[in-house]
Amino acid sequence: MATNRTFTMLKPDAVEKGHIGAILEKINTAGFRIVAMKLTQMTTADAQAFYAIHKERPFFPDLVEYMTRGPIVAAILEKDNAVEDFRTLIGATNPADAAEGTIRKLYAASIGENAVHGSDSDENAAIEGAFHFAGRDMF
Ligand code: UDP
Ligand code: MG
Repeated sequence: MATNRTFTMLKPDAVEKGHIGAILEKINTAGFRIVAMKLTQMTTADAQAFYAIHKERPFFPDLVEYMTRGPIVAAILEKDNAVEDFRTLIGATNPADAAEGTIRKLYAASIGENAVHGSDSDENAAIEGAFHFAGRDMF
């Protein structure tokens, strides 16, 4: 995967609340091209693997429960400086700390249920994109 790509998930809370359209509008307006996208639901094993870096953290069981409780929208996005620019668009992990106008400021309920995922590095963007999509499903 090229390094001008990032990976995102619109998390179960965002899908439950009907925010898919509004969040995709923000993503499009910010200049990201959609490379791959699907509605899917993570299994417990999927979420444990996806968030393995956090497995020793106290919030890990709640995170796995949250991320598996309903469908998500998984997507690969392309733009110059995609990883950093997408992290700016979504805002801080805790919506209380997120800048005005960011996706988490607008749509996240709490540090746990924070509406959207964004990769934190080019390396992880490639790993996370490949976790959810086969090459033939990337455009
Ligand atoms: N999370 C949580 N409590 C915390 C920190 C994180 O429940 O104190 C959850 C939250 O859903 C977050 C995810 O775990 O998005 C991954 O945490 P990370 O620190 O990687 O934040 P992100 O990269 O999503 O901003
Ligand atoms: Mg992270």
